[in-house]
Amino acid sequence: MDCLFCRIANKKTDTKLIYEDKNVSCFFDINPKAPVHILIVPKKHISSINEINSRNVNILGEMFLVAKKLAKKFNISEGYRLVFNIGKKAGQEVDHLHLHLLGGFKK
Ligand code: AMP
Ligand code: ZN
Repeated sequence: MDCLFCRIANKKTDTKLIYEDKNVSCFFDINPKAPVHILIVPKKHISSINEINSRNVNILGEMFLVAKKLAKKFNISEGYRLVFNIGKKAGQEVDHLHLHLLGGFKK
């Protein structure tokens, strides 16, 4: 299976990672919908929230903690959105779980 976000998250492409730890990688969205738009991605392939179960649910907590850390790092802690798109009908284009961190909005 050839998956774009598996390749990016595991450093098989030129995409620069802005954060990584054991289980999670983060990089800027190529088509940003906010002044700060970061994707938070598990290194292991999971297609979407629909594939979350009792064995892999901990990854979601890790992703939210990384989101909070990056919001602080990029000075957007006072206002940001965290979004999962689940399924094509909701606009999911890449079939590898990712959390959108969006911030830096002008009030
Ligand atoms: P979604 O629509 O929720 O599946 O989000 C996929 C996101 O991935 C979109 O916001 C795209 O702009 C972004 N994207 C697609 N290809 C890349 C890439 N090579 N590097 C960074 N972001 C990407
Ligand atoms: Zn993948």
